[in-house]
Amino acid sequence: MIAVPDIIIAVDGWSSTGKSTFAKMVAKHFGFLYLDSGAMYRGVTLLAMEKGLIGAEGIREDELKAELDAGFDLHFERPADGTTQLFSDSRNIEKEIRTMEVSSYVSPISAVAFVRSWVDEHLHDFSKNGRVIMDGRDIGTTVFPNAELKIFMTASDEVRAQRRYDELIAKGTPASMEEVSKNLKERDYIDSHRATSPLRRAEDAFELDNSEMTMHEELVWIQGLIQGKFGILDYDGRD
Ligand code: C5P
Repeated sequence: MIAVPDIIIAVDGWSSTGKSTFAKMVAKHFGFLYLDSGAMYRGVTLLAMEKGLIGAEGIREDELKAELDAGFDLHFERPADGTTQLFSDSRNIEKEIRTMEVSSYVSPISAVAFVRSWVDEHLHDFSKNGRVIMDGRDIGTTVFPNAELKIFMTASDEVRAQRRYDELIAKGTPASMEEVSKNLKERDYIDSHRATSPLRRAEDAFELDNSEMTMHEELVWIQGLIQGKFGILDYDGRD
C-alpha cells in the first residue's frame, strides 16, 4: 500500500454519487479520518423537526439559531465495528437522520447561512489533527479551500436513484423509486442554487464519474491520482 502524506482530501458532488462509500474506503485504506459533513446537516434538520421548527410554513430561524447557540451537541463516535455514527449527546441518531422525511427538509435547512457557519466550525474542530477525508457539497470550495486533493463526484441520474433506493430498502426504510428520484432532483437544485456556498466543482478538483466503476477501480484511480500529484511515494510495508 502506498504511504499517503498528511493531507486533507475534499470530496464533493451531487447527491447519491457514492461520495461516502468512496471516502470511507479511502479512509480505511490510507488510515485517514473520515468525516461526513452531510450527517451534520441531517443532524441539525432532525433537531429542527423534533422541536417543531420546520414545516409547510417554512423554518423558524430565530428559534433554530437559539437552539444551536444554546450548545446543541452533535459529534461522531467510532465503535469497534469500524463504522462512523452520529450522536447527539448520548443518543445515536445515525438511523433517524437517513429517513426520507429528513432528506426532504435537509436542503432548505442547509441553505440557512448561520446553520452553515455552525456546521463549518464543528467540521474544522473535528479535523484539527489533519489526515482527514471529508465528503459534502462545499468542502473543496468553502470548508477546506486549500485542501491538497479535491475530488468532484458525478454519476448518471439512473445509477444515483437506484443506489439511494437500494440503500434505503437495505436499511428497512420504506421508499419508492419515484419519491427517491424526485428528492435527489430537488436537493441537487437547492444545493446548487443557494446563495451561501452553493454546490459547484472547485476549479482544481479532479472529476470522478463512477457510473460504471467498481470500488476497486475507484481505489486504483485515487492511488494513481495521489502518485501523479505527490510523486513516487514510499511503500508502508503493507500490500
Ligand atoms: O451527503 P448527504 O446527501 O447526506 O447530505 C444531505 C444534504 O446536506 C445535502 O443534500 C445538502 O443539502 C446538505 N449538505 C450541504 N453541504 C455539505 C454537505 C451536505 O449543504 N457540505
